[in-house]
Amino acid sequence: MSELNLILFGPPGAGKGTQAARLQEDFRLPYVATGDILRAAVKEGTELGQKAKGFMDAGALVPDELLIDLVVDRIGAEDARDGFILDGFPRTRAQADALAAAFEGLGRRITAVLLFDVPDEELIRRISGRRVSVKTGRVYHVESDPPKHEGRCDVDGSRLVQRDDDKPEVVKQRLDVYHDQTEPLVSYYDERGLLRRIDGTRSPTEVHDHVRAVLATLRLEETL
Ligand code: AMP
Repeated sequence: MSELNLILFGPPGAGKGTQAARLQEDFRLPYVATGDILRAAVKEGTELGQKAKGFMDAGALVPDELLIDLVVDRIGAEDARDGFILDGFPRTRAQADALAAAFEGLGRRITAVLLFDVPDEELIRRISGRRVSVKTGRVYHVESDPPKHEGRCDVDGSRLVQRDDDKPEVVKQRLDVYHDQTEPLVSYYDERGLLRRIDGTRSPTEVHDHVRAVLATLRLEETL
């Protein structure tokens, strides 16, 4: 396969970040997560961060125009020539159309859109127990993947916090936004033959194995 242009798709808490870390190890491709880019921008107080913060705090999507050029430029960069792992984008029809147009212009194509399927009750359980290191960004879960010492990152002992938008009142809103604005893209990508469904309720290792199997099949199909 010449390029591996992957989109990780699914609701918040479906395990996209966890799988992205494993896929990055497998393929050494740039990882582009719009949520991470925006959180970094908020932390640094850049213009983008200032514009995005209010939407993020409310569990709403930031306006399309703040992200589209940024993402298209990023995945068009030299280090993404062999591919990339895109997480959290597209989330609206306008973003999907912009991505498709940009790709067509570049003569590239999306390899696959991996949909991580997880029911809402499980997402709420996962998100409410999620804790993140303020320094390393490593993600834990208070029940299913706790740190060795409570509230401290295993890597460097830095403090673990709950993302503001992981708090219960915002989570419900984020899930509503996913179902209303983002989930329609499932049929959009299915119609274009790009969607691959993954059962996201399984363990991270089982999910990773499934993803590897899906990618191996795609490679095989390409050589036939
Ligand atoms: P995430 O970490 O992917 O859950 O993203 C955190 C927040 O960033 C979301 O709740 C949105 O406010 C914003 N965000 C991330 N990606 C996008 C996107 N593609 N379009 C609009 N807003 C986004």
